[in-house]
Amino acid sequence: MLDLQAVDTRLDQLAHQEATLPQTAQLAELTDRLAELNTDVVNASTELSDLSQDVRKAEDEVEQVRKRTTRDQELLDSGSITSGKQLEEIQHEITSLLRRASELEDAQLEVMERAEGAQARVDELSLQIGEVQQEHAKVSAALEVAVTVIRADRADLDSQRAGLAARVPTDLLALYDKLRDSLGGVGAAPLRGSRCEGCHMQLPPTDLKAIVEAEADEVVRCEECRRILIRTAAS
Ligand SMILES: [Zn+2]
Repeated sequence: MLDLQAVDTRLDQLAHQEATLPQTAQLAELTDRLAELNTDVVNASTELSDLSQDVRKAEDEVEQVRKRTTRDQELLDSGSITSGKQLEEIQHEITSLLRRASELEDAQLEVMERAEGAQARVDELSLQIGEVQQEHAKVSAALEVAVTVIRADRADLDSQRAGLAARVPTDLLALYDKLRDSLGGVGAAPLRGSRCEGCHMQLPPTDLKAIVEAEADEVVRCEECRRILIRTAAS
């Protein structure tokens, strides 16, 4: 019975160990981190795509103003305009087109810098995602190994338990299992001297006397915690 209790205690410990493996918490943390990074990279990519559009738009605008300036300049150079007033108008337009081009180029430069910044963020986030994914795979593999080892131990102990349980009378086994359920996994405890090792209480002399005098095959229980008491050779 005490061997069975030892195996059951070990099984409980292994179940607890499996449920509280540090890798499980680490994986949850890494999964959260990945979700955050993925959200960030989606946002940064959207920003980058918007800015890339802005860059193209700015380029088109600059191009249009330049074309118009060239056209005006060609017209001026062709000598086909003879009216002084018209010449002055064209000259004036060229001046304002050049100013406009300069403004547009500044704006274009600014949007290009912002696009570069967004590209750098996307690159950095992608790098971080790669690192976290690697770490996730590493911890995942370690978890699998740890679980496999624990499961193998549990399988061994399960078969040991079956062998030990088969030697315990059915009624006693049912009582033991019921006590284990309600008393933190310990259904049977040795009696050491006058002390119950289940609840660590000293038994009153009258209880102890009754136990000592009971038949060897009689099931005796601690009056304090109700556990099955096992009289060992030492007691
Ligand atoms: Zn007790």
